[in-house]
Parts: sequence; structure tokens; C-alpha cells
Amino acid sequence: MKIFSKIVMAVAGLTLLATPAFAEKVVKWNLAMTWSSTLTPLASPAPKLAKMVEAMSDGKFIIRVEGSEKHKAALGILDMVSGGQYEMGHSAAYYWKGKDVNSVFFTTLPFGMTAAEQYAWFYYDDGMDYMAQVFDKFGVLSFPGGNTGVQMGGWFRKEINSLDDLKGLKMRIPGLAGEVFSRLGVNVTNIPSGELYTSLDRGTIDALEWIGPGMDIKMGFHKIAPFYYTGWHEPASEMQFMINKRAYDKLPPAFQVMLQTAMRAVTADMYSENFADSVNAWAQMKSEYPNIQVKTFPTPVLKAMKQATDDVMAENAAKDPLFKEILASQQDFMAKARAWTIISEYNYVKTSMELGE
Ligand code: CA
Repeated sequence: MKIFSKIVMAVAGLTLLATPAFAEKVVKWNLAMTWSSTLTPLASPAPKLAKMVEAMSDGKFIIRVEGSEKHKAALGILDMVSGGQYEMGHSAAYYWKGKDVNSVFFTTLPFGMTAAEQYAWFYYDDGMDYMAQVFDKFGVLSFPGGNTGVQMGGWFRKEINSLDDLKGLKMRIPGLAGEVFSRLGVNVTNIPSGELYTSLDRGTIDALEWIGPGMDIKMGFHKIAPFYYTGWHEPASEMQFMINKRAYDKLPPAFQVMLQTAMRAVTADMYSENFADSVNAWAQMKSEYPNIQVKTFPTPVLKAMKQATDDVMAENAAKDPLFKEILASQQDFMAKARAWTIISEYNYVKTSMELGE
């Protein structure tokens, strides 16, 4: 039986025992987030989880949540959870690409699945088992932790009409997408978030990508770069909960169930919160800055991005058998899932648009 299914069944089985055993003494855990405490909705799931678990355990299971402003190690979360300094973490799996390239599959891939498709792969296909396999060597249990949905392709000061317009363009874009842009001649840079607005305003960079309207509006990019490109590179960025395995194994079974239940609840909740934030922020941006132009990259540019993405994936698959296996799992599932998405949600939205609604 698959690893994840075994865990779920073991946990479900334990709830059927006659006497529910809450811990005699209070269990106190610490959780470190990659984000600062104010960076909602990314910073929303962990504190909500802590509140739920405390209420469900009648105050016997307390999780103290720390933002990056306190621990100062935004990208050290995996090490800190693996080493046991923190029992839990909230981050995103693709930040651990340097430790294991297979971690990229558990966040999002350029031209990859939508959130609905990807959640089906995680929970009802092979996703959770592969994630367990990749993080096992760190002594860490890993779970989905909320999703941004489709991220926008970024804010550009000038319109992109051809592949030539990308040559020498200075852009902030991290991860696999940065590698793809770099292969197309873009001068990819990484600039701390606090300096992004000034860099774009002064022309130190010509373009940048962040997330979507809900989070972009707080950064103010729409005031200085009028071209807002649609997304291709992060179609469903999934956040990540990590738990130190030894700490988890020591928990009373009832607390394990509470954690599992609360993680599923706040993961779905962040997806809704971010969707609502983007709905409202986009309405506000459009009315306050009517000069914003939504653009989709020209087809030759998108084709070149897709080719560069396929090349990067094929190069990694040739080096690492597990990468090849997980890629095949995602591609197989995505082919089936997309066929359904097209005749269901996509067709519904398209039909509604044709009716002018
Ligand atoms: Ca992004």
C-alpha cells in the first residue's frame, strides 16, 4: 500500500479506539514561516492552524507561530524543521530545489497543472506518496499548505511584441521560470522584495513578476509599469507544511488527527482567501488605474518558453531517475485532468463569456 494511504488509514483507525486519549500534559510546539507575519494570505494558514488545534485540543496542544521577522531565516525552514529546532514549518517546496531538485514538483511547474488538477494529483493520485518519498531523507513529513492559483506573468514597463524584445531585458523572476527566461536572453536578477518598487521605478529592472492582484496591489507596481502579462510560469503555486517526523511520532494519536484535519482546512482556506483578495484588488486596480493593459505574450514567445521549459525538464530527467518518474506521473495525470477541465470549467466560462456575462 502507498505510504500516504497507510498514514491516513492508521490515523483514521486510531480514532475508533474506545477511550480518546488527550495528552496528560500540554504539548507545546514552535512553527517557523518563510513569510513575515503580515504577508497575508501566505502568512494566513499557519496562525489559523494554531488556533484550530488549540481549540480542538481544549488548550492542550499549543503551536507558537514565528514569522521571518523574528527567526531571520526565511529560506532556512527545511533545515530548522529537519534539525528539530522547530517542530513545524510553513514555506514552499521549490525553495529546496538546491537540496533536491525533485522538490519543484510539489509547488508548481511552468505550463503545469491548475490548482484543481494539482490537488487531485496530490490527494487522489500519486502526489502525496512522491512528496513523502522526497522529504523522507530530511526526517520531515510534508503536506500541501495553501495555493495562490494562477500567478500573473508580471509587470512590464514596455510591451513585448517579439522574442527580440526579451533580449537584454532586465527582469526579476525566480526559480525555473527565471531559468527559462534566461535561456531566451533575459537578464534575470534577484532583488529583495523591499527594493523591487524602487528598482522598477528607476529602471534598474524593466519588468518583474510577483504573484497576482491580491498581493501585487500592496507593492504598487501597477502605478509604474502599465503592462500586466497573463501567467504561464506558476499556474498553481502550492505552499508547504513541514513537520519534524520524530516530533509527530511522539504526538498522541488524537493530536495527529487534529493536525491533519487543520492542515487540510487551512490549505483550502488560503486558496479561497487569495482568490477573494485578487477579485477585489483587480476590481480596484482597474477602476483607479484604467491605463493598465492586460497582455498575453505573443504565440512565438510562448512557444519558445514552452520549448525552453521542456528542455530544462528533459535535462533534469536525464540526470535523475526519480525526477523522470515524478515528471511522468504529473504528465500522465495532467493529460487526463486537462481533458476534463476543458469540457467542464473551461467550456463553462467560455460559453458564459460568449453570452456576454
Ligand atoms: Ca511569483
